[in-house]
Amino acid sequence: METKIISLDPTGFTRLDLEEAVYLMQNGEIIGFPTETVYGLGASILNPESLKKIYLAKGRPMDNPLIVHISHMDMLPALVKQIPERISILCDRYWPGPLTILFEKSELVSDLVTAGLSTVAIRMPANEIARALIRELGEPIAAPSANSSGKPSPTNAMHVFNDLKGIIPLILDGGSCDYGVESTVIDVHSNPPLILRPGGITLEELQEVLPNIQVYGKNQKDKALEEKPSTPGLKYTHYSPNAPVILLTGTNEEIQAKLQKTYLQYKENQSKIGIIHTHKTIELPILISQDQDTYVHSLGINKNELIDSQDFNAALIQQGLFAKLREMDMENVDVIIVEAISEKKEGLAVMNRLQKAAFKIL
Ligand code: AMP
Ligand code: MG
Repeated sequence: METKIISLDPTGFTRLDLEEAVYLMQNGEIIGFPTETVYGLGASILNPESLKKIYLAKGRPMDNPLIVHISHMDMLPALVKQIPERISILCDRYWPGPLTILFEKSELVSDLVTAGLSTVAIRMPANEIARALIRELGEPIAAPSANSSGKPSPTNAMHVFNDLKGIIPLILDGGSCDYGVESTVIDVHSNPPLILRPGGITLEELQEVLPNIQVYGKNQKDKALEEKPSTPGLKYTHYSPNAPVILLTGTNEEIQAKLQKTYLQYKENQSKIGIIHTHKTIELPILISQDQDTYVHSLGINKNELIDSQDFNAALIQQGLFAKLREMDMENVDVIIVEAISEKKEGLAVMNRLQKAAFKIL
């Protein structure tokens, strides 16, 4: 199968530009499309054959459910048993946007979407191309991220092409994704409400509406919560580039010392080293900055930006993280060393993805 890419201007596309994508989806195909979080691999939720193709194309385990994407609130009632008042408030505030909410599913939603669960995860994407595609198809679209299972999620059309060329017929190219990580998945049926997966909408933003919300697995006081099975997707290897990722944690001084030590260990074995440098105030040791064979990528740092006194820019790191991990693979490095950041705001999703990608955390 040949994989075609159609480039769209996110601010100037027309219905005609989406005709081929809609035609393919109506005829049981799955396609890659942009969202504000990461690229999705979409199928109509009403077509079991195309839903199966999603799992096959990605090599995704069948017990890892998909997120249902809607373009309008009119699409919601048919998918769910009820819309509780507290969820309605969240929809009003955060949709369209990167917040996925669990609902009790209706009969319309097949087990192929929910992997047999009684709940369905739903969101309304902010990306105009994504919403127009759903609107033109006239049916909700089930979509996981459009990467091969286990790899970093795709944040531009070339990432999708590299993973799925020859496997899917079409990718809509709408440029780079604004957020660069997946949506936040929340469950407000539990008490306290839980963030099952940190993502585009931050904990701090959600606390404005749900003051007692907690992050799954972070609350050390509640053992029962710790031991409860989490969202199905989280038990699988995720976000891993080919090269092992080593995540350096601690104070800036500790990270700097670990950087030098880890670098020297790998250098001794003649390894090709990649470094993702995220802090303005962490000076790279001279021997690293002068080593032409080591790939140092700064992420979210503009050293000339004197007005901004922050040590790092978590939103920029989030936006570029998956692309940098993929870039490192293209450069065929043997190891990727990454400087950890604090878990405040966007840092929570960044660190969640890095911890899952990591082969070793130092
Ligand atoms: P992806 O679209 O690749 O980001 O994966 C979708 C994520 O949503 C996975 O982590 C799933 O486990 C999670 N998810 C989807 N549906 C449900 C559900 N009904 N209950 C809990 N988590 C879900
Ligand atoms: Mg995914």
